[in-house]
Amino acid sequence: MRAMVLSKVGEPLTLQSLPDPLPGNDEVLLRVEACGVCRTDLHVVDGELPNIVTPLIPGHECVGIVEVLGPGVSGLKPGQRVGVPWLGGTCHHCEYCRGGRENLCDTPEFTGYTRPGGYASHIVARADYCVPLHHDADPVAIAPLLCAGLIGWRCLAKTGQAKRIGLYGFGAAAHIVTQIACRQQRDVYAFTRAGDITAQTFARSLGAVWAGSSDEMPPVPLDAAILFAPIGDLVPLALRAVKKGGRVVCGGIHMSDIPSFPYRWLWEEREVVSVANLTRADAHDFFAAKECKDIRTATRIYPLEQANQALGDLRAGRLSGAAVLKP
Ligand SMILES: [Zn+2]
Ligand SMILES: [Zn+2]
Repeated sequence: MRAMVLSKVGEPLTLQSLPDPLPGNDEVLLRVEACGVCRTDLHVVDGELPNIVTPLIPGHECVGIVEVLGPGVSGLKPGQRVGVPWLGGTCHHCEYCRGGRENLCDTPEFTGYTRPGGYASHIVARADYCVPLHHDADPVAIAPLLCAGLIGWRCLAKTGQAKRIGLYGFGAAAHIVTQIACRQQRDVYAFTRAGDITAQTFARSLGAVWAGSSDEMPPVPLDAAILFAPIGDLVPLALRAVKKGGRVVCGGIHMSDIPSFPYRWLWEEREVVSVANLTRADAHDFFAAKECKDIRTATRIYPLEQANQALGDLRAGRLSGAAVLKP
């Protein structure tokens, strides 16, 4: 198979020819059709996540066709289209797995981090953690849903019944969440890098009622805010934008340090919470929800061997929507 491989943290990925992997017990081999590029991939290649073991194939927004079933697989069949998301496996017996919070499993496996990912022509995945997809789904359009969509969905759920929601960082996740939130009759306030008129125009085109720079105050106090940008300075800014009892949800896996701020910005029962990973139930609920049907993802397609270009464009904020690799 062909794969874009991280050989050393901080260095560009290299295209390599590797032996075709074989699925083990309860695993499947997929032919990759498309793999989205997520900000978490940047945190992996930059070494901002702990315990990165190289060589490593990134990528956890993977859409593929099942080619080979490993021993013991019963729920999938060859020729079926599935998604391989970030949550690649859990232990089933820790207190979190038993308590319905497998996203917090003590010994999890993550696709494109602790398991080989989807920046490749083929991938082996644990069958129980694959997400069945419609056979007529467009692999490129659906790939960003597998992380940006699912994590965005989990973040949105954490805002409860909030009507006015601020989204900080208007990338792949925010452009999906905006569409869902609008269908739920919520008002979206989009916060972008200062002066990023392109992103602000994009946000309004998807239904945001207001768009501005992240250092601006919204025109009205917000009920909740979701931070997708990995910038700790945004936490106190978002706290100041939400009203009494409001909640700030941090959606990223990594963030720069949060600066100190006066307690009164948190007081009046404002909350800061984080979202970590996702559960298989999140994926099930997302793909079953009527407000998530026919989400339009804005994608830019790159050939697999241009993964470094795609990561660079994401890092520099040159994307409207999501980058997707095609092997
Ligand atoms: Zn567990
Ligand atoms: Zn991701």
